[in-house]
Amino acid sequence: MEEENRLGTGNGLAGKVALVTGAGRGIGRAIALVLAGQGARVLVNYNGSRERALEVVEQIETAGGQAEAIGCDVSDFDACGRMVEEIIGKHEHVDILVNNAGITRDNLIMRLSENDYDSVLDTNLKGAFNTIRHLSRYFLKQRRGKIINISSVSGVLGNAGQSNYSASKAGLIGLTKSVAKELASRNICVNAVAPGFIETEMTAALPERAREAAVSAIPMGRMGSALDVANLVAFLAGSMSDYITGQVICVDGGMT
Ligand code: NAP
Repeated sequence: MEEENRLGTGNGLAGKVALVTGAGRGIGRAIALVLAGQGARVLVNYNGSRERALEVVEQIETAGGQAEAIGCDVSDFDACGRMVEEIIGKHEHVDILVNNAGITRDNLIMRLSENDYDSVLDTNLKGAFNTIRHLSRYFLKQRRGKIINISSVSGVLGNAGQSNYSASKAGLIGLTKSVAKELASRNICVNAVAPGFIETEMTAALPERAREAAVSAIPMGRMGSALDVANLVAFLAGSMSDYITGQVICVDGGMT
């Protein structure tokens, strides 16, 4: 076979257009930087952090890459539709979609408000539905595409105090597996990445005692970095993972 006689050809991101939601900071920012470093033009989505998204764009451009910032609240179905139309109008295609935007509103179930339940589900789960729903018809026409949903080990294992968040992240796993089955025959791969305990603003907000307890449950004995997650996303976004779909891959130092 020809493939067996070829040396490695890289991960094939040059010339690809990648939309990364919530990419102004944290894990999304690291994903944007790694994808751009591998040659993709990255659309850096933000909701509240416009300035920080512009900084990510500047950092990518300074390093010789291509990026632009695009604002949109992913929990808003119609706004996502407008974002997708704007992107397609300008670039004609999108090859990679990374649903990274996410929030926490932690509380024990007895104290969890309806509003905190709804807002977490609306951003983390419906947000991914919104972008996939609007982009999938273009992916289908192109007969190619990569969708990567950022879930969490909380969605795999459950976590006390995070029933809303765990439900949203477990929901993302169901969404991933179902959409993977629907789109597989058109050469579109849909996978979920489930990070463990990663050093970002989301985890910085945790009390010291909770951080210590979380780290003690990690066999590798340390929190992960945003780059640890971004490297896996880059693999799933590129041609090296073309026969992988419907999977949930944990980046968690052995936690699960
Ligand atoms: P973070 O530092 O709090 O960043 C959250 C990101 O989500 C921000 O860029 C934010 O954008 C964006 N976002 C929130 N609501 C949005 C909305 N309605 N529309 C568009 N963007 C929105 O969190 P992180 O730690 O980087 O987490 C990134 C993803 O990884 C999340 O899905 C999170 O659940 C998941 N995760 C994180 C960990 C961890 O340990 N850190 C573990 C497992 C999974 P703006 O600032 O522009 O609003």
